[in-house]
Amino acid sequence: MSKSSKLFAEACNLIPGGVNSPVRAWNAVGGDPFFVSRAKGCILTDADGKNYIDYVCSWGPLILGHAHPVVVKAVQEAASEGLTFGAPTEREVQIARFLVDAVPSLEKVRLVNSGTEATLSAIRLARGFTGREKIVKMIGGYHGHHDALLASAGSGVATLAIPSTPGVPESVVKDTLLVPYNDAEAVARVFAAAPEDVACVILEPVAGNMGVVPPSNGYLETLRELCDRYGALLIFDEVMTGFRVHFSGAQALYGVTPDLTTLGKIVGGGMPMGAYGGRADVMSKIAPEGPVYQAGTLSGNPVATACGLATLEMLKPDGFYAMLEEKSRVLEEGLRKEAASAGAAISINRVGSMLTVFFGEGEVTDFASACESDSERFAAFWRAMLKEGVYLPPSQFEAWFVSASHTNFEIEKTLRAAHNAFRAAV
Ligand SMILES: *Cc1c(COP(=O)(O)O)cnc(C)c1O
Repeated sequence: MSKSSKLFAEACNLIPGGVNSPVRAWNAVGGDPFFVSRAKGCILTDADGKNYIDYVCSWGPLILGHAHPVVVKAVQEAASEGLTFGAPTEREVQIARFLVDAVPSLEKVRLVNSGTEATLSAIRLARGFTGREKIVKMIGGYHGHHDALLASAGSGVATLAIPSTPGVPESVVKDTLLVPYNDAEAVARVFAAAPEDVACVILEPVAGNMGVVPPSNGYLETLRELCDRYGALLIFDEVMTGFRVHFSGAQALYGVTPDLTTLGKIVGGGMPMGAYGGRADVMSKIAPEGPVYQAGTLSGNPVATACGLATLEMLKPDGFYAMLEEKSRVLEEGLRKEAASAGAAISINRVGSMLTVFFGEGEVTDFASACESDSERFAAFWRAMLKEGVYLPPSQFEAWFVSASHTNFEIEKTLRAAHNAFRAAV
């Protein structure tokens, strides 16, 4: 028995499902998850000493790859000066300044400890600011695990959200209105039916949690117009896309300005940190400046801010995103070629360094079309890739991430693995 399997067996007795976040389990692809002992660059080493090329990259934060020496040094230095003070520190000002300069729609920003906290706080703020209760979210959009936003599956009806998990009361999600992603008409209908009730529309400007799905032409612009017309706030959840698809976020890539933005993943550089921010008049409603309460004992943590700042500084140089785009383009084109040569029907959605290979015929434009993918074929492909030493997200509905540390060497190795793996998934 491998050391990973031994650890997993023990973990299952102690931790629900053996993991501290469900996506880490390999339920969708089969088998026990490996346990990680260390990682460097794009190579991850499991508890049994086997190496993998990593395209999970901790689900997004590691745009520089694992254990970048500059980042590690910043963390070590910060840790030696004290782990937490519960009082303001200079780096909180520095990172706030950095975020406000990088993302033009951010006039003020508040640091939190996760993406979940960022979206939960932004929604509370939108409700507090507008005095309205309803929120609009996209089917298959993920914004963290808090109650109001876990509504998603089971209902195509915009007016009737069904909680998709036990433990979330219907009363909590009754004000969560679900619409398909990329369907601006559906949002228009929601507004028309409840013109004065919608506090905000929240979405991932590039969907990443149903697999990667880019916004169709004009979609984000239309949402902006609708929110303006009906006095609702537009919230871009850029926890995944922020500093991923563009230095200034998807909002810069598509040229649409939200009222509020949520950030996470890359902003913490691998430490637990999130942020939300936007219009100064809206953000000023947050306590202690305003009446909307939101707090955190460890928020703006000195080690997390050091990690985030060191990471973000390295994304600044000209050409960083062009370099990521080029690596990712080579990967995408290679995958298409290998799939075609194997006769495997797939479609690939990619925006910059996030991409998903969908195992189906048609184009994927929303959650429903993503669900038409063949999960069995995906699982066969995934297992074959793992065997060849390539670690992909263990689900059809996730984004793969290319980091700055992936070189041509690993990308070519990945494509050679895919050559065989696609043949296992025809
Ligand atoms: C990951 C993610 C979240 C949740 O962030 P956590 O740090 O896991 O709480 C929220 N929104 C989006 C778009 C995400 O990708």
